[in-house]
Amino acid sequence: MSRYTLRSIQLSDFGRHQMLTIMAGFVDNAQPPARQRAVDNLIKLHGIDLKTTSSLRYDPTLTTRDGKNVNGDIRIGPGAFSQDSHWLANVVFHEVVHSDQFAYYADHGVQFGNRATKSEAERIMVALDECEGFYWPWRNSGALGLSADQQASLRREVGLWLIEIDDAPTVALARKGDFEQARLALIKRWTAENKSNP
Ligand SMILES: [Zn+2]
Repeated sequence: MSRYTLRSIQLSDFGRHQMLTIMAGFVDNAQPPARQRAVDNLIKLHGIDLKTTSSLRYDPTLTTRDGKNVNGDIRIGPGAFSQDSHWLANVVFHEVVHSDQFAYYADHGVQFGNRATKSEAERIMVALDECEGFYWPWRNSGALGLSADQQASLRREVGLWLIEIDDAPTVALARKGDFEQARLALIKRWTAENKSNP
């Protein structure tokens, strides 16, 4: 019973035009429109839900990281193409998980203010969000077709972010994949902290 279950690529998909467009995004010097089509078609093949994502674009100028998400606007950089289409699908999926998190906080009245004065609950939320961003691609490794090394690297990220969370009740829920309960408890703490220091 997991929150995200992606569709696996099937043998029959290899006869589809979509597969060719994904491969075309990986040829040397593939141009941005070809890379954009590869991203769009991976989303369709895996059934990744973009209901909370406002925009999702390949950005050749994003070189500091593989992907980023600012309040539901996702940008995917060239680094996401450095391995293979399986890894690219994982990078895109990670960012889409962040869109759902932004929407969840907004629905629960959480507004993140000045990052310099981050409250303890907010610090934990940031680490929980990253942990979840790696957890679901890791849990969907089979559907994404990730290699053993790629799976190991996601598993390592999950472990590092669990350490970063550094809050026993939140870690216990995150380990079970119960991110929603963990987030609800943090939202209660956040709301109480914000009432005491407006
Ligand atoms: Zn992230």
